[in-house]
Amino acid sequence: MDFQQIFKAVPDIKAGAPGRVNLLGEHTDYNDGFVLPTAIPQQTTVYIGYSPDNCHHFYSAELEEWAEVNPTESLPQGFASYIYGCIRVLEQAGYTIPPINLFVTSSVPIGSGLSSSAALEVATLRGLRSLLNLDLDDVKVAQLGQQAEIQYAGVSCGILDQMACSLADPEHMLFLDTRTLERRILPFPGGTEIVVIDSGVARSLAGSGYNQRRAECEAAARQLGVKALRDVSAPQMAESLPEPLCKRARHVISENNRVLKVLEDLSAGEFGKLMNASHASLRDDYEVSVPALDQLVDILQNTPGVFGARLTGAGFGGACVALVRAGAGKAIAEIVLNHYNNAGYKGHILVGCH
Ligand code: ADP
Ligand code: MG
Repeated sequence: MDFQQIFKAVPDIKAGAPGRVNLLGEHTDYNDGFVLPTAIPQQTTVYIGYSPDNCHHFYSAELEEWAEVNPTESLPQGFASYIYGCIRVLEQAGYTIPPINLFVTSSVPIGSGLSSSAALEVATLRGLRSLLNLDLDDVKVAQLGQQAEIQYAGVSCGILDQMACSLADPEHMLFLDTRTLERRILPFPGGTEIVVIDSGVARSLAGSGYNQRRAECEAAARQLGVKALRDVSAPQMAESLPEPLCKRARHVISENNRVLKVLEDLSAGEFGKLMNASHASLRDDYEVSVPALDQLVDILQNTPGVFGARLTGAGFGGACVALVRAGAGKAIAEIVLNHYNNAGYKGHILVGCH
């Protein structure tokens, strides 16, 4: 299916945005901290034309789903809420958006923690930017995408996903200060590539666990007398807090320090050690891992050619990312998956290069 078959017309513009994977800096973005994502090769593409009537019409090739949105009626649910959310936040910013036809197709896995939602928002906003000649830079696109997701899809996300989908590329790592939005494009450690493997375990508790961790971090910051945990750099500072706030704060502080370390131009081995330490901290202090993720990470860390591995995304299921020897990603993933799936899991490869 394509735009023309669905809408019986030729689209006016085409725009795209990649998915992303976070290499280091997990659960730091809502603490005003540092993150280190990269874009993945998979992309979401939107085709947009003008609608012949007063409604917006959206079609998703992956979901094989239609949505018709009448702006005078109630807000849409499901995938249309992400797209219509982008239209609404542009209107709130003072732009006039005419009714559109939008066709979306994507190779970003949906719901696997590689940010298909932010890719959809950034692609939609880029599409509307070129269709209507809107004066928006890539940072503004990311901020509007985040607003769309919070206000219209009901997900209280940080800025990591949208900044990564809007500003990162698959050949580099994006160092981002989520408080100031200051950023640096960094090369990967020499002779490496990344592998992302889905654990096959759904992120069942991710929503409630995420909200609970956010509340714990806010309480920890309050008790330490700082605006956000980003304002503390010595992990010992956390020791004065009661449990579990002590452990939670220790993770965020040490994780921020690990991301900052990357600015020192590390070797693959040094970078890998930071990823391993990040996983241990997410498992023991932040308590967002599950046995399947621990097992997958353990197998990855013990496979030759792997420099380091950790869970990526919010946790409670989802995917793991590893830094591996350049050119070895696919072979390593095969060995690891063989071992992991023999233990009864249904893991699969999501990304096998950079
Ligand atoms: P992730 O961002 O990790 O992939 P989310 O749960 O945040 O997972 O977002 C997934 C949701 O985003 C889907 O349920 C759907 O509503 C929307 N979405 C993303 N990509 C597409 C697409 N290609 N077509 C339709 N909806 C999509
Ligand atoms: Mg998402």
